[in-house]
Amino acid sequence: METKKLIIIGSGPAGYTAAIYAARANLAPVLYEGALGSQISDLPGGQLMTTTEVENFPGFPHGIDGSALMDACKAQAVRFGTEVISKDVVHIDFSSRPFLLTLSEGQVKAETIIIATGATAQRVDIEGTMDGQLWQKGVTACAVCDGALPLFRNKELFVIGGGDSAVEEAIFLTKFGSKVYIVHRRGFLRASKIMAQRAMEHEKITILWDSEIILVEGDGKVESVTVQNVITRKAKKMKAAGVFFAIGHKPNTSFLGGYLKTDETGYLLVEPGTTKTSVPGVFAAGDVQDKVYRQAITAAGSGCMAALEAERFLAEHPILV
Ligand code: NAP
Repeated sequence: METKKLIIIGSGPAGYTAAIYAARANLAPVLYEGALGSQISDLPGGQLMTTTEVENFPGFPHGIDGSALMDACKAQAVRFGTEVISKDVVHIDFSSRPFLLTLSEGQVKAETIIIATGATAQRVDIEGTMDGQLWQKGVTACAVCDGALPLFRNKELFVIGGGDSAVEEAIFLTKFGSKVYIVHRRGFLRASKIMAQRAMEHEKITILWDSEIILVEGDGKVESVTVQNVITRKAKKMKAAGVFFAIGHKPNTSFLGGYLKTDETGYLLVEPGTTKTSVPGVFAAGDVQDKVYRQAITAAGSGCMAALEAERFLAEHPILV
């Protein structure tokens, strides 16, 4: 079985930046972007594929479409010799070097690994929203991916959450819905001031403070939600066509089988100021190890760090064959 010098898992800004640096350092990196239509991995390209305009990535004064940015990163990584493969990594044996990776099809060995698998949108178990109920029948966790669907046009839409994602998604949905409600369990938004102000001033957005959705109903598609005030416990049923979760993310680390050290929420722990995980030769970059900044640019920065650290590690710890 062939042993690669460096395998990168994940195809967001962290993975591609690591690939660009590693390829330019002649490490011949192989990047697993996830299988298309996979139940295991997210969309290749990561979370930026489901965003529209990225306005805060330096170098693009007029903004850039998220998927266009990722396509450009991929092209740059490939140009320098990165091999991009559309398969999932389903298991890694970290017990000895080279590490053995089991893929959705086949196996491969790697002297070093960079994990850049990002994080996935979270959901709450509200009656009516689960798989087999109205999930993907008006209930979704990505307004940007699904908001333009005909079933949401000129209808009442509900976004759950109080952070920047909730506000961003609500503003996005105003393009399609007749009215957008942000349902937030507190009396203030966690979102940045500028974003919160945009939501509060938007004529199509109403914020339902101290509230949660306790029931979603409909015949084959979302038709109503029951919103309860968490303080007064008063509940009211409201007409609805869409429910969008925007309550944060979960790091994609379950395929690692608990071998690498994580915090209590599953984020990979790295040695402070580095991308070194608890296993020598294994590095982590991007949102999978960052629950504080979670930005495309910080992910890209840590991808660069991971590649430089992998290069140094390979020089200091060659595997003699
Ligand atoms: P977040 O900041 O962690 O906010 C999550 C929101 O969901 C919070 O308001 C939280 O409520 C609520 N929530 C969590 N679990 C819940 C549950 N079980 N039921 C009901 N509500 C629940 O996550 P985010 O909005 O996804 O943002 C993540 C990071 O990305 C942040 O750093 C953010 O600034 C950044 N971001 C930036 C932009 C931008 O600049 N354009 C856009 C999107 C995200 P509590 O407030 O009560 O905790």
